[in-house]
Amino acid sequence: MQYDVVVVGGGPAGLAAAIRLKQLSPEHAVCLIEKGSEIGAHILSGAVMDPRAIAELFPDWKDRGAPLNVPVSEDRFLFLREKSAFKTPNFLLPACFQNHGNYVISLGQVARWLGSMAEALGVEIFPGFAGAEVLYHSAGKTPGAVRGVATGDMGVNRQGERSDAFQPGIELHAKYTFFAEGCRGNLGQQLEAKFDLRKGADPQVYGLGLKELWDLKPAKHQPGLVLHTAGWPLESDTYGGSFLYHLDNNQAAVGFVVGLGYSNPYLSPYEEFQRYKTHPAIRSFLEGGKRIAYGARAITAGGLQSLPELVFPGGCLIGDDAGFLNASRIKGSHCAIKSGMLAAEAAHAALTAGRSGDALTAYPEAFRQSWLFDELYRARNFKPWMAKGLTTGSLMVGIDQMVFGGKAPWTLHHDHADHETLKKKTAAQTIAYAKPDGVISFDRLTNLSFSGTNHGEDQPAHLTLKDAAVPVNVNLELYDAPEQRYCPAGVYEILHDTSGPRLQINAQNCVHCKTCDIKDPTQNIVWVTPEGGGGPNYPNM
Ligand SMILES: Cc1cc2nc3c(=O)[nH]c(=O)nc-3n(C[C@H](O)[C@H](O)[C@H](O)COP(=O)(O)OP(=O)(O)OC[C@H]3O[C@@H](n4cnc5c(N)ncnc54)[C@H](O)[C@@H]3O)c2cc1C
Ligand code: SF4
Repeated sequence: MQYDVVVVGGGPAGLAAAIRLKQLSPEHAVCLIEKGSEIGAHILSGAVMDPRAIAELFPDWKDRGAPLNVPVSEDRFLFLREKSAFKTPNFLLPACFQNHGNYVISLGQVARWLGSMAEALGVEIFPGFAGAEVLYHSAGKTPGAVRGVATGDMGVNRQGERSDAFQPGIELHAKYTFFAEGCRGNLGQQLEAKFDLRKGADPQVYGLGLKELWDLKPAKHQPGLVLHTAGWPLESDTYGGSFLYHLDNNQAAVGFVVGLGYSNPYLSPYEEFQRYKTHPAIRSFLEGGKRIAYGARAITAGGLQSLPELVFPGGCLIGDDAGFLNASRIKGSHCAIKSGMLAAEAAHAALTAGRSGDALTAYPEAFRQSWLFDELYRARNFKPWMAKGLTTGSLMVGIDQMVFGGKAPWTLHHDHADHETLKKKTAAQTIAYAKPDGVISFDRLTNLSFSGTNHGEDQPAHLTLKDAAVPVNVNLELYDAPEQRYCPAGVYEILHDTSGPRLQINAQNCVHCKTCDIKDPTQNIVWVTPEGGGGPNYPNM
């Protein structure tokens, strides 16, 4: 099937790009594929949204019913110790922690709304189809340029044989292909390697975000309250913190982000999240309430220094697939929308001029002139400072933001990729996590059942190992198998049978967060898109 533009990924970046293309010319043939069973099914975010980009995309977004219904009413920032909490006076909060004018949202709902807008404009949307392979021109005007993508075959059994339900993947060809897969995109990584897009960029760094949605007791609910914490339960050398965002209908999103550059192989981001909820300052909101959904997703945090080259012949990276996220604000949804719009505008100019298959260089040029570049430039030192520990980091971020307004005459860099930072088990302290109480804290598998995760049983494993011996000979031996702890869905288990220890991979539990792909110290785990429609089914995360 031939299109002007094919978009891979139906998050805010991909949907905004598709919408902008159709706004600029209804004649453009635009198709969008999404691996989730529906638009929004795989979207997990905080979220507090800065409406700047959505207001550029639809100046009348309010009249169109965009689900930005809860204006932020109060910012609260707490430094936690085990039994106490210190509230930072609001006048000491740098601008990046202030949310006046923003909205507490469900990004899944916003994506669904953007999807309906895109369809109304004539974008062809195919949910349940994963982009499995990048296609290249072998000859013609632009040999080597991206030609489109192929979706995965459906109905292939575990042994790799075609079952009765077999449907071959479809080739989608386009003049330009936009990759909008979100954080640690599978095809995006292949393109970075193929076109050497990371040359000159810092390594990308990440966090893992874990989230639950709660129904609170009405007396404890304060619509628009945005509460962030730093400190306990993490050690001061581990980057991370929490969010507790009050939505409408007595609901709150409670979440915890752990920087994946952590060094202790015994750390479990999931258990830290459960422990955090037991703090008196947080527990008091949750008591008497009910957890109604759970999920997890990695988040890009490298910022400007870690952005790869954005364009290559025949396509581009947009949104978190490139790494457009302002880590100082934990906000990427407005960046994703803006980057999608900028790429769409460059593609519109190229299509109108009769071009195809070349690099859309007008997109990175427009980015450098945009407010998005200015915003990411001001935030560029946040994560490198915070990587130096909570005390130094908080102090230096304060100076960087409040004295220099983010324009200090220096730029710090990210020195290591996250898979390089684990200490050996012999040099690390074990961590004793308390048993969950089943009221405020929950075990992983019980929580997983609140993510709606489902993969067809009889399909090839989407998680494989480059070398089957490495999990035991290296990961278990040196790091005590950290995949057992960093995976938020309990996919990896070391089992002991008569022949000794072995790694079991429960791939059907995978929530597509991409943490194993990022943190595995030997980079031995291969994550590919499973059959379209598999994975979590988040209602409104
Ligand atoms: C815990 C957490 C809290 C956050 N809090 C906030 C916040 O408060 N405010 C804020 O603005 N931002 C926040 N963010 C960041 C924000 O969610 C992201 O920046 C934003 O979602 C990026 O949009 P995107 O379209 O680039 O990617 P995504 O939203 O990740 O969407 C990508 C889509 O592509 C699909 N996809 C991926 N690969 C394929 C493939 N091969 N084929 C087909 N489909 C594919 C995915 O299923 C997904 O639907 C948070 C993120 C996390 C994880
Ligand atoms: S297997 Fe990997 S991608 Fe899947 S949930 Fe676990 S860490 Fe995340």
